[in-house]
Amino acid sequence: MELKVCCPQCGWKPGGEPYWTCQSCGYEWDVFSTAGRCPRCNFEHQDTECIEWAGGCDEVSPHLDWYQGLDEGLEEINILKDN
Ligand SMILES: [Zn+2]
Ligand SMILES: [Zn+2]
Repeated sequence: MELKVCCPQCGWKPGGEPYWTCQSCGYEWDVFSTAGRCPRCNFEHQDTECIEWAGGCDEVSPHLDWYQGLDEGLEEINILKDN
């Protein structure tokens, strides 16, 4: 299945762009491609910011809240984390 991702507060949908910056090392990447883990330093980001300049609301939500249909999607997230 395809996992839908949108901001739980405003519904903004990230488009696979590297909008996020790692809190630990400053690396920029698409946080949803790795389920919140920095691909460079492996820092786990529990919260994800909604990107205001890209059309979002600038609020911070728990990373898992961004996934819609999470029950079906959990397996897919675990697969992502293994890679
Ligand atoms: Zn990092
Ligand atoms: Zn938002």
